[in-house]
Amino acid sequence: MRAVDIIIKKRDGGELSWEELDFFIQGLARGEIPDYQAAAWAMAVYFQGMTPDETSDLTLALALSGEIMDLSDTVPLAVDKHSTGGVGDKVTLVVEPLVAACGVPMGKMSGRGLGHSGGTLDKLESIPGFRSSLSIAEFKRQLKEVGVVLAGQSADLAPADGKLYALRDVIGAVGSIPLIASSVMSKKIAGGARAIVLDVKVGSGAFMPTVVEATKLAKLMVEIGRRAHRRVIALISDMNQPLGHAVGNALEVREAIETLHNGGPPDFREHCLVVAGHLLILARKARMMKTARQHLEQALADGSAFAKFKQLIEAQGGDLRVIENPDLLPQASHIETVPAPRSGYLAEVNAHEVGMAAVNLGAGRAQKGDTIDHAVGVVIHHKVGDGVRKGEPLFTIHANDAAKLKIAKARVLAAHKFSAKQVQPLPLFYKVLRS
Ligand code: URA
Repeated sequence: MRAVDIIIKKRDGGELSWEELDFFIQGLARGEIPDYQAAAWAMAVYFQGMTPDETSDLTLALALSGEIMDLSDTVPLAVDKHSTGGVGDKVTLVVEPLVAACGVPMGKMSGRGLGHSGGTLDKLESIPGFRSSLSIAEFKRQLKEVGVVLAGQSADLAPADGKLYALRDVIGAVGSIPLIASSVMSKKIAGGARAIVLDVKVGSGAFMPTVVEATKLAKLMVEIGRRAHRRVIALISDMNQPLGHAVGNALEVREAIETLHNGGPPDFREHCLVVAGHLLILARKARMMKTARQHLEQALADGSAFAKFKQLIEAQGGDLRVIENPDLLPQASHIETVPAPRSGYLAEVNAHEVGMAAVNLGAGRAQKGDTIDHAVGVVIHHKVGDGVRKGEPLFTIHANDAAKLKIAKARVLAAHKFSAKQVQPLPLFYKVLRS
């Protein structure tokens, strides 16, 4: 078998067999297939697409390129969640300890920020001392003993996905439904999850721009899960405006802590309750959403979710004083609140633009390997549908550089669109799909 023949077959719209996909992916993982061939193949898939059979086979080949974690000796049922990436998406920081506080141990491998979207690991690393690099043995020990783990993706799990993803990122082949579906599901399968909640984001701040596209992606991931005997629930959720108020690493950790203290922005809290509710149902801790919510609301109100978060941070070496007093989180040197330029109803707070403003302030990476400034970011004060009066605070920029602050101010201001007429608030969720 030759890599070039597999590329040509896909380029010409052919359907690849399991043998061809496995040959290509294992060759990539072992370094036998060079990046230029992998990039050409990814671009051929981008344009020609893949059948559901091919996508399932690709998922399995990616998962089998490394270790497959077996958590059956560690937890009664390994549950996991995955977001396809958004702006202000700090859901994992709340959902993991919340679900764990309700008696469902949860260990998760998370990623770093990508493009305009933030990453859970970058957020957690704004807590001094927090260690995200755990071996598989450490991951399993902490999951058993503490019931909650948040670590970086181990290089031993689905390594071919890591390589392919890095290539797709730099050749403009991220936004392909079969490539995203196989990338996400291979990591979940390799990570040992038996039941998975997928948070598929749609809108300006997401990789999927429309509900139709997001539904295609969600259906494909649910189908891959079904074929791999995993229980999967996919939620299609709005990412046209940032989730919650805070965008930027330490700012988002602060908002997550507020939420774990039974506060936080209503949209963000509700989003967390829905995701966590589905996890409790999948783990058979609750039969219906109503009961799941009662457990979850209780865990937020009685402090057990926050206590679990503290245990998580302590187990991974983070400074607990920061969790008790979020004023100790990294703070930016320039903080400026921008007033609304006019009165009206908010018709748009463009998530992509706010996300890019935060990245340019230093909250994300312009290039692989860039260091993150954990203190900087944007706090929006209003959501779509809100009535706003001229002069009242519209958003706050946290910057460590006056010139960058000025650019971010203009960009975030332009991301806000006003209407003279009352605008319907955006829905949090559009659809739920099940395997
Ligand atoms: N998240 C992933 O893990 N993979 C993709 O391809 C896109 C988003």
